[in-house]
Amino acid sequence: MRASSYHDLASEYGAYSCVECGKCAAMCPMAETAGSFSRIKSPRGIVQQVLRGVSVNDMPGLASCLQCRQCSQICPAGIDIAGLIAELRKLLPEPPVCVCSVCGSPMLPEDARLYLSRAVDSGFEEKLSYPALCPSCKRRTYAKNNS
Ligand code: SF4
Ligand code: SF4
Repeated sequence: MRASSYHDLASEYGAYSCVECGKCAAMCPMAETAGSFSRIKSPRGIVQQVLRGVSVNDMPGLASCLQCRQCSQICPAGIDIAGLIAELRKLLPEPPVCVCSVCGSPMLPEDARLYLSRAVDSGFEEKLSYPALCPSCKRRTYAKNNS
């Protein structure tokens, strides 16, 4: 990856405006769906890695992102993080998410597929409560109730 490409992407999606507030990471459902969620995997981490010129091959968050766009909506600096992630995925040598074997459309990331399998396989109570709130809304509700 040429530095100028990263520079262009970072400029186009506003990444240089990041103030590292962490709001995107707080809302990101990957914190629940990705078993090994970390700062590096978070949208905040991805933005910072782009600014540091880290190779897309060393950005584990790209494979786990659900493209829910919560991060882009909440970012106070107006950074389209989800759009940036979608562009970064195109730079990977292999598609980072499962794709339909017939039409090639992207489907759920492996982390999310496992998360859903665990939810369905878990107890009766969780089966009932799971469809009520998606991971993002659970986190948003928690943040609202504890602010
Ligand atoms: S919400 Fe925006 S400004 Fe805050 S850490 Fe995330 S990308 Fe940076
Ligand atoms: S679009 Fe991706 S990085 Fe952004 S909040 Fe959703 S899962 Fe997290």
